[in-house]
Amino acid sequence: MNYISLYRKYRSQNFDDLVGQKHIIQTLKNAITGNRISHAYLFTGPRGTGKTSTARIFAKALNCKEGPTASPCLKCDQCKKIRDGNAVDVIEIDAASNRGIDEIRDLREKVRYAPIEGKYKVYIIDEVHMLTPEAFNALLKTLEEPPSHVIFILATTEPQKVPITIASRCQRLDFERIKLSEVKEQLLKIAKAEGFTIDEKALDAVARSGEGSMRDSISLLDQLVSFAGNSITFDDVVTLLGSADEDMLFDLSDALHNGADAKALDLLRKGIDEGRSAPQVAKDLINHFRNLMFAKVGAVDSLELTKEYQQRLLAQANGMDIESIKDILRALSRAELDMRWHPHARLVLEVALLEVMQSRGTTEVKAEAKKEAVNMVRPAPAAAIPAKAPEVHHVDADSRIVHIKSKWDEILAKVKKQSPYGFVSLHEGEPVEINGKGRLVIGFKKGYAFHKERLDEERNKAAVESAIKEVIGEDIGIEGAIMDGKIVKPQVSIDLVREVFEGG
Ligand SMILES: [Zn+2]
Repeated sequence: MNYISLYRKYRSQNFDDLVGQKHIIQTLKNAITGNRISHAYLFTGPRGTGKTSTARIFAKALNCKEGPTASPCLKCDQCKKIRDGNAVDVIEIDAASNRGIDEIRDLREKVRYAPIEGKYKVYIIDEVHMLTPEAFNALLKTLEEPPSHVIFILATTEPQKVPITIASRCQRLDFERIKLSEVKEQLLKIAKAEGFTIDEKALDAVARSGEGSMRDSISLLDQLVSFAGNSITFDDVVTLLGSADEDMLFDLSDALHNGADAKALDLLRKGIDEGRSAPQVAKDLINHFRNLMFAKVGAVDSLELTKEYQQRLLAQANGMDIESIKDILRALSRAELDMRWHPHARLVLEVALLEVMQSRGTTEVKAEAKKEAVNMVRPAPAAAIPAKAPEVHHVDADSRIVHIKSKWDEILAKVKKQSPYGFVSLHEGEPVEINGKGRLVIGFKKGYAFHKERLDEERNKAAVESAIKEVIGEDIGIEGAIMDGKIVKPQVSIDLVREVFEGG
């Protein structure tokens, strides 16, 4: 037997099982019972909010053998044919697929003919805003003098793109995003009927991810069932969705607010290593800071969140001021926009995080980090490194790389001032060796090639080389290399240095 998607299987078949959109259901039912049916309707609203389902139910209500009726029987020939998409009098046109040219031409020719099986001919034109100007013109001609047996239902996610000449001839009904509680209720109903379990946190995440689209939430549920089987947990959702989990969001937000830049970048890297996408992390962070903003102004109740989560938000918001939250939100929103066209979305996010933290002034944290780094990297003063070769220029390559590594934090700090992009890329790599050509090789893990490429760009390269010159007084060129297995930041570099100083 062919697999039927959960969305199709549980698609609403009658007005009373539609989820949400109470005002629209009432309007349409009243039109039918009061015999005040319009010739053309314009259904607007976000995807997955029930526009097409409602259109089909309306078609059933009109053409059911008991119709027009507000409760089609679902058993008669017409009801079944409409459900299966086989009714000759209900014509569905997807304007998105070929912009409707042939269909509308066809429609103009055939619209005059009486319905064959039912009482009405119902044209459902999905994504109507995609029609070509010619198709719109043809449609307009028909709408100007609609035959009495024809009903048009035009559906669109972008009503502003529907010509006013068309829109003004329709009764417009605006579909709203479906409430979180309603989506959850429907998902639970499906889970129960299908015989699988889903934990509360997972249910919440699935409902939330659809952002008010029932279809998107059910599709995700469908994927989860094939992925996780009959018992779905929050971990399954995180794995599949790649969304940041609660702890990561709170930690990353703290790091951002406190200007703990190394920690923030490491958290981000950890999140991405675990399989999340950079745009998803950005989206989740924006949502989190928005929640913090609501918490800060005392509107946490208006967020559809568990009490426990609200408490956690309030506690975090307590330590932040509203101006900072707004600054961070603005910066993240800008980054999210930039990420849409930038080939290296992750890099854009990293630079945005860094800039947020820089602008917030972070001297205390930085001083601490530096102290720590100095303790770990340099137990002895720099002058003691090459005892056998006091002048930097004449030390052998091994000693030089040790020297560079001991100064790496200083070099990083200088690059950061000149070139945030260069810094972020440099931060992902580490100094490995001075190669045969006398260049400093910066090693990157496999999968980090875009940082290597970014570092190879002239501007960033120059920033790094000039920082090296400033700090250690030497002209050394750099080049990036992918060295998988060798680069495990940051322990390896520190251990290597320590080994040279203490053990060697
Ligand atoms: Zn029927």
